[in-house]
Amino acid sequence: MTPRKVLGLGAPGRLALRPRPGVPPFDRSEGVTVVMPTPPAPKWPSDRALRAQNKVLLAERLRWPDGALQACQDLEKRYPGWNVHWLGESIRGRRRAGFHASFDGPFHKVDVYAPTVAELEPHLDVPEHDFGLRGCAWCWENPYGKKVLL
Ligand SMILES: [Zn+2]
Repeated sequence: MTPRKVLGLGAPGRLALRPRPGVPPFDRSEGVTVVMPTPPAPKWPSDRALRAQNKVLLAERLRWPDGALQACQDLEKRYPGWNVHWLGESIRGRRRAGFHASFDGPFHKVDVYAPTVAELEPHLDVPEHDFGLRGCAWCWENPYGKKVLL
């Protein structure tokens, strides 16, 4: 009797791969169509929409004074690109309660803080960045952005 050999995968003596009489070899590539479902791309709300929702929650939870939320929303509508918040007085009283507006454009960055909307509004006009060869005058004046604290 010959010693039994250990048969490797695919060796003719292995049961699963041994061709059986009358059974055609199974061709895995034939007749099988796999259709992967393509999930629809998720539709996230835009950053602007999320910020607007967040602002409503903040106004409610931090108890903004009456009309502050509406004033912020109006300013954002009139000055696109600006993010306007109401901030209460700081704990040690270094900052009065008021409106904080920030503009984070492709080049121009501005932060304005003013106690009232009327004082804030004149500072919300930011010129377009000048891509001309002479450079942007606004950027020369405000190389690190502009801060207006009233
Ligand atoms: Zn500029």
